[in-house]
This record gives sequence, C-alpha cells and structure tokens, in this order.
Amino acid sequence: MVMISGNVHILEMLEPDFFGTVLNHNITFIEDGYKNGLAMIDTGLPGNMGIISNFLKKLKYNINDISYIFITHYHPDHTGNVNAIKEISGAKIIAGENEKEKLLNEDLFNIDYNDVKSTLNANEEEFYKTTDRINHIKRGKINADIYLKSEETFGNIKIINSPGHTKGHISVLYNNILIAGDAINNTYGIKPPFKFFCEDYNEAVKSFNKLINIKSKIIIPFHGEIIEK
Ligand SMILES: [Zn+2]
Ligand SMILES: [Zn+2]
Repeated sequence: MVMISGNVHILEMLEPDFFGTVLNHNITFIEDGYKNGLAMIDTGLPGNMGIISNFLKKLKYNINDISYIFITHYHPDHTGNVNAIKEISGAKIIAGENEKEKLLNEDLFNIDYNDVKSTLNANEEEFYKTTDRINHIKRGKINADIYLKSEETFGNIKIINSPGHTKGHISVLYNNILIAGDAINNTYGIKPPFKFFCEDYNEAVKSFNKLINIKSKIIIPFHGEIIEK
C-alpha cells in the first residue's frame, strides 16, 4: 500500500471469486473535499458498512461525517453502499448525467465466455460462477442529487469526464492526486479497462490517454495498485 499524504485516505476492500482471482477495490476519502466536508469517491460492494465505519473510526470520523459521495460510474462495486450511507449521513450524491439511467436500474451483465476466454485467466466454471454472483448483487436504485453535465469543480475537487468503460464515467482530480475509477486499471499493468467490460472501448482508450497525460503525482485506480508518477 502507498501512503497517501495529507487529507486523502484509501480504504482497500477485497472481492474474492472474481474470475478465479481476488480483486481489490480502492475507496478514496478526502478530508477537505468540498465545503470542508468529508468526500467519498465510490463505495464498494453492498453490505460493507461495518468495514467503512471501522475505517473511518480510525481517522476519528464516522459515517455521519460523509457529506459528498462522488460516483465514478454505476457498477455495483462502486455504488454498493451509496444508499445506506445517504440514509445515515444525508450525503449529497454526485454522478455523471449519462449514468442516470443505469443508476436508476439494476443492470445484468450479459457476457459470453467465448468472447472473453482469451482475455481472462478464468476457466469456464470460474467465469460463470463470477457472472452469476455479480448478477445477483443488489445495490438498489440510486438517484443522485447532482447529475453533472460538464467538468465542474467542487472546491478543491475537479471532475474529469472519462467515458468509455461506461457512458457517463467520471474521474476526480484533487490537487495532484487523480482518482481514476475504472478508467485506468492497474491489475495487469497500467491499462485501460478490459474491452469486454467497456460500453465503448475506443472511448475508453481515449479517456485512458487523457487521464495518463493529466499532470498528477499519484493516480488511484479503483482496481489494482496505486500509481506513483
Ligand atoms: Zn466498472
Ligand atoms: Zn470496478
């Protein structure tokens, strides 16, 4: 783990049985995110409120202190605890305009093993075990308070549009720290997201290049190791 200095803290969660491996999730908290509140970027899979709460306690915070949740995109590993946190803290939820439809629905993954077997290390059994598990995750319908139409700024937090993995994917730039969501994947080298997980792979590659070229010192991908430039 890289120690992120100052006001930025990473909670690393683990997702076992992810196509035959264990996938990590980097959930970011920023202490002076916006209006001096605690900002959270992405929230992990549903049912992890205890882990989030214990992590915050070590930082002398609790769930109630979360005032803004930035959602990079609608996938359940990013949005799983959004509604539960909002219920406790009343946090304002911020997402890209083009994620609205998917946030208000619970989508199923429709991927065929034959289309991914050359990319993934998983065998057929591991593949269907994972897609079946993912398709049974219930995160509830999410209605954001703010849907972003442009690259807005919230205090020290600057939104960067990074579509491709999903239509309305956003990333967050805080000083020289870039929180990239799934627009950058570092589980198999520093790469764009897996093609079969992209709504528009060409767009995803464009966004990847855009983010890599933004002036920053640290990139936090949601999956994989943190990148020090
Ligand atoms: Zn995703
Ligand atoms: Zn993800």
